[in-house]
Amino acid sequence: MVWMVAVASSCVSANPDWPGHRAGAVLTVDLAAIAANYRLLDARTSGALCAAVVKADAYGLGAAQVAPVLEQAGARDFFVAHVDEGLALQQWVSPKSQITVLHGARPDAVEECVRSGLRPVLNSLEQVTQLQALAKRLGGPLDAVLQLDTGMSRFGLSQADVRCLAQEPERLAGISLSLIMSHLACADTPAHPANAEQLQVLQSYAAQLPKAPLSLAASSGIFLGEAFHQALVRPGAALYGIAPNSYGPNPLSAVVKLQAHILQIRRLSKGDRVGYGLTWRADGPRRVATIATGYADGFARQGAEQGCAWFGAQRLPILGRISMDSMTVDISDIPEGQIAADDTVDLLNTSYGVDAVAEAEGTIGYEVLTSLGGRYHRIYKNN
Ligand SMILES: *Cc1c(COP(=O)(O)O)cnc(C)c1O
Repeated sequence: MVWMVAVASSCVSANPDWPGHRAGAVLTVDLAAIAANYRLLDARTSGALCAAVVKADAYGLGAAQVAPVLEQAGARDFFVAHVDEGLALQQWVSPKSQITVLHGARPDAVEECVRSGLRPVLNSLEQVTQLQALAKRLGGPLDAVLQLDTGMSRFGLSQADVRCLAQEPERLAGISLSLIMSHLACADTPAHPANAEQLQVLQSYAAQLPKAPLSLAASSGIFLGEAFHQALVRPGAALYGIAPNSYGPNPLSAVVKLQAHILQIRRLSKGDRVGYGLTWRADGPRRVATIATGYADGFARQGAEQGCAWFGAQRLPILGRISMDSMTVDISDIPEGQIAADDTVDLLNTSYGVDAVAEAEGTIGYEVLTSLGGRYHRIYKNN
């Protein structure tokens, strides 16, 4: 359930009717921070259009709430992965905004995609042929984005495909190419030689095709410099506060806060053990808290060893294994009387964000963010 309110610094309400009390944890999404991140990226790419990638339900944060805020911040170009995501997004942004479907449409969905006003990405010669057949049938040119594979071997036309289009330009008759795009494999590593190589390959392939604006950079690519911006940039992660690389401070604002309720506090004696497998053993007296968030809420078991919760500035290490609906943290360093059952601890906040959790889990912030579960009580702040 979604609760739209403006809230002060704490999400935990004294009101007993507040639905947040019924959930294990409260996820607060700062919509003003998302808008500020969009504006920062837009300002950094002033020679290019700044689109917004809102696939996977805006990286798990809720496209229904996030997309209108991005539009209000100035975004007019939205990218999703699937036709279904594009159709859903049309409820939440103005019909004047352009929605592009990164995977394009599978054969049986091309017509619905186009008739609905969604712009497909053409990732193969087959998709080019299908769209051309539809253009012929509908009797007019159709807008599309052409994706070229510049080294990642994932999506888009190969070098041979590009040559084929160059030799048989009639294959593109009836298709109006509004953008030619590709995607960087190593943009979070500025020194990686693949970045410059992919840019060069994109430009040389595009020179063989009808003239169209180019797009290469997603979040990390924006920070590689102006040469990578081209006509349109496609940030997703950075909008949601994820660091574009591990060099220097993250220029983006934190977007999510997650506060988990303490279910129980108990005292352990030397030798007492904690959790499935009894893998953690107390080496002396300890106080521990069981909190109401687990791996079903997106906190992977691999994060148990390095992970933690926070009580103010106090780090609370996770003890033993993470369960489906709970985990146990060490609160021994918090003076007695300062923490109690029903208080909350932070699993994500402005100084310990998804990138920090990702490091503990041995993954990336993207995966942590898109794994955040569906059973949190959600608050959209600064709407
Ligand atoms: C997901 C995606 C993006 C956005 O990437 P971020 O790294 O989240 O900014 C841009 N372009 C394509 C093709 C994508 O798949």
